[in-house]
Amino acid sequence: MCRNRRICAQVIILALPQPALVALFYPIRACWLKAINALCLKRSDVALTLFLALSLRAERLDWYFRMSAGHDFERALTRARARQRNRKRSLFGFSVSVKELLLLKDRFAEASSMMLSGFVSAHESEALTRLKRAGASALCRANADEFGIGSDGSACARGYIVNAWARTACSLVQEVVTAGGSSGGCATAVALRVSTVALATDTGGSVRQPASYVGVIGLKPSYGRCSRWGVLAYASGLDQVGVLARNASDCARVCAAVFGKDLKDWTSVDLPVPKFEFYVSNSRFGLTRRSISAIVLKQQTPCFKRAWTYCLSTLARIGFELTDANVPFADMVVPCYSVLTSVECCSNFARYNGIRFGLRLREVSAFLLYKKLRTVAFSAEVKRKLFTCAYVLSTRLGYEQYYLKAQRIRFVIKNCLITRLCDRNVLASLSVPASRLSVNNKLQPNVLTDVYTVLASLTGLPSVSVPTCFSEVGLPFGIQLIASAYKELELIVASAMIARVNGVPSVCR
Ligand code: GLN
Repeated sequence: MCRNRRICAQVIILALPQPALVALFYPIRACWLKAINALCLKRSDVALTLFLALSLRAERLDWYFRMSAGHDFERALTRARARQRNRKRSLFGFSVSVKELLLLKDRFAEASSMMLSGFVSAHESEALTRLKRAGASALCRANADEFGIGSDGSACARGYIVNAWARTACSLVQEVVTAGGSSGGCATAVALRVSTVALATDTGGSVRQPASYVGVIGLKPSYGRCSRWGVLAYASGLDQVGVLARNASDCARVCAAVFGKDLKDWTSVDLPVPKFEFYVSNSRFGLTRRSISAIVLKQQTPCFKRAWTYCLSTLARIGFELTDANVPFADMVVPCYSVLTSVECCSNFARYNGIRFGLRLREVSAFLLYKKLRTVAFSAEVKRKLFTCAYVLSTRLGYEQYYLKAQRIRFVIKNCLITRLCDRNVLASLSVPASRLSVNNKLQPNVLTDVYTVLASLTGLPSVSVPTCFSEVGLPFGIQLIASAYKELELIVASAMIARVNGVPSVCR
């Protein structure tokens, strides 16, 4: 497109009043998004105009929802065009939002923290490299809780992430409802169709919880399924790269592209990656080939019984045979998770000392430098983790009573869950214990919101949150499914089946 025409397109778009622009592009459909992206790469003038309008729309939406830490439409387009052979790749036309914890080469990697402000990454994360190789383009850096620690999307350097559904559903309640955390920015970007899919990290539910609050699919694969190379670590023994998408088929395609052994990450496993997309599009190869069953987590006390009953009836409708499960120590998963993550977090964050990484302050001694930097640059949530670790590991007794005990409980729960799941397809539970998270009226303390999601994280099993119905306040509500190790296929197929029965909730309508 010649420069004049490009400027002309920009002028026309900017001349449109803001409400007209938002109204025009708010009800955008996912297939349009892919078509526009694909057309853009083929150098169509009309498509470029639409693309510019889309980028403007994203920026306008961002003022309100604070989902991103910067768009890079022009750069994404230029780079994707430079690789024109991408047209035949499986993810051609896909735009991706990337959580701030995944590194992008030559771009800021601030992890939503003051500690890393101005830090530019020299590497690109392996998961993202694989996505780009498959033809996708990284479009937006998604806002997240600081270093991925947090459950409500409020511990972000750029302010809390507003739930895209809240404008309509909670306008009467006069409260600021967040998109959950820590990957709330990714989930909002996907729900508002700023990008087709998103890549995020999940340590204790950061992908599944916001997915449930904003009504998208959030998949956390088995530990080791996806390379963690180039991901800022929080708790290395639990961190996983997860995928957020609006439908099971997009999720399947992204999973097929990013999963697999990576020699740079020795925790990644060398197992064949199934053709997920094939099984999703041919439902007869899905779960329906054999009798399917789900065990239902028994200890939970659903505060919204109607929604939970509806979720179970959905599972029954698609043919799941439901039985009750009794997981031992289920009430201990949260304390166990807290102890283990705080210890791993403390060890990982030792590098942010102002000398190796982090802001370099002027101080006379290393001790004063550490003290000052860590006091000002870490948020309360991060400090809480570091203090917990200091308490747990400061004495031998603490080490034995807390850390070792937590490891033993994790081992018992893992073995038990693996045995329970060996003859069943999935374990079903709620994704989140509250229908909404609000900033001005905290319904739950932070750790308690993780109560259902940490089970899969501690055991390293794959898990997905699928939007199933609406809660009593009119916000989307997800059901969580956990499968046996490396059985992501069952989860993706089950998500496709649930979406076929219930439809996909859409905020853009
Ligand atoms: N809320 C949990 C925590 O703060 C989970 C965060 C995550 O999964 N990254 O540890």
